[in-house]
Amino acid sequence: MAKSDMTHIAIIGSGPAGCYLADQLLRLIPDASVDILEQLPVPFGLVRYGVAPDHQSTKAVARVFDRVLARDRVSFFGNVSVGRDVSLDELMSLYDAVVLATGAQRDRKLGIPGEDLPGVMGSGAFVNWYNAHPHSQAPLVSDVRSAVVIGNGNVAIDVTRILAKSPEELAGSDMSPQARSWLPAQPLEAIHLVGRRGAVEAKFTDHELAELGTLQRAQPVVEPHGLEGNSATVRTLRGFADSAPRDTPLTIQFHFHLTPVAFVGEEKLEAVEFRSATQVSATEGRTWGTVLKIPAQLAVTCIGYESVACGAASPVQGCFANQDGKVDQRLYVVGWAKRGPSGTIPTNRSEAPQVAQKLAQETADGARPGGAGLRELLQNRGVNWIDYAGWRRIDSAELANACAGSCRGKFCSTAAMLEAAKGELQQA
Ligand code: NAP
Repeated sequence: MAKSDMTHIAIIGSGPAGCYLADQLLRLIPDASVDILEQLPVPFGLVRYGVAPDHQSTKAVARVFDRVLARDRVSFFGNVSVGRDVSLDELMSLYDAVVLATGAQRDRKLGIPGEDLPGVMGSGAFVNWYNAHPHSQAPLVSDVRSAVVIGNGNVAIDVTRILAKSPEELAGSDMSPQARSWLPAQPLEAIHLVGRRGAVEAKFTDHELAELGTLQRAQPVVEPHGLEGNSATVRTLRGFADSAPRDTPLTIQFHFHLTPVAFVGEEKLEAVEFRSATQVSATEGRTWGTVLKIPAQLAVTCIGYESVACGAASPVQGCFANQDGKVDQRLYVVGWAKRGPSGTIPTNRSEAPQVAQKLAQETADGARPGGAGLRELLQNRGVNWIDYAGWRRIDSAELANACAGSCRGKFCSTAAMLEAAKGELQQA
């Protein structure tokens, strides 16, 4: 079938939401041609740069997504940034429908004093760094003896676990070489995992929480009083509290009902200040609790993410306003960009059929040029885009570059990825 007879759809973003949607669109629209644009030369977004590098079984879903990219009616356009190389308006004129699958790339801020001090990082920045994201930056501190992790979700658990694991426990991961050398160089003695609400309200899943009780060099420490409720997580926390102390160099200390109020330090982080939960007193009404200071050289805020603008489309309160996935005429949204930063990778698989059906019902072949038009535009602008074959060459080079104790030698810069896409074997 000639390309011009097809329904041309562009998906911006090659993470789980974009790949699951592409798969559904191919099933629902027999004449669909789906182009997936990605700002990095490499695909899979959150799977490659968000999922913890020691959870390779979760990262294995990349194989499913790779099969989507390999399909006849799919084209990958890596190293193409919407807003820089092509505008959203241009995509709208080239394609019958455009989908934002751009995730939530920016860390939410607490908005409290000291948040810009060296030693304070958002989880996105920290997680991107240990996952070797080319735009990431290493923590600006060393000699970390105490770390504070703020938030009671699964990202907070990931960050805590990565900080706590020994190099032997991280063997077989695809962690960045920089993180591999920075982590064991820290004389870490305590990780404080702090939630603003109670244990029963924590958003950890029990499986992730329980893993903290299996670590070689760290043991969880929980105050048993105040562990109200009977959820699976509370039961696991009670189990931690009841466990006999082990002789480990590191403790993971759980704190609940503490709201962060300031990061304190002169030139870099020295402590994090919290206020304990409000209490309601019968005689005085609502009162503030006490202030508590936890000394720390590193603090990672794991309090969620927000979407950033994609060309002319701007998010409102962290995600793109939409009606069941529709943002505007011929413009759709999926994943964290649609619903905010909640849910796991399979949530995107469940969501994809609804948005795909809506798009399929509302979209007709508008005799637009699709990928042929995009290729011409990129060529005229001298954009060095990476196609699926180029990604496969990067992938092969990374696998060949895996050093002892790692499953992949990830390229840490865009330049190295682009070089590897040419085909000669590169050192990571
Ligand atoms: P999350 O589950 O929404 O947790 C965010 C945490 O930040 C909550 O404890 C929240 O407290 C806290 N928080 C928000 N604003 C705060 C503030 N101003 N001050 C103090 N605390 C604040 O988000 P996440 O951990 O970033 O995870 C995002 C999604 O990815 C989740 O659906 C998660 O399950 C998923 N994920 C899954 C895995 C896995 O399956 N292994 C791994 C990582 C992430 P409140 O509850 O009080 O708002």
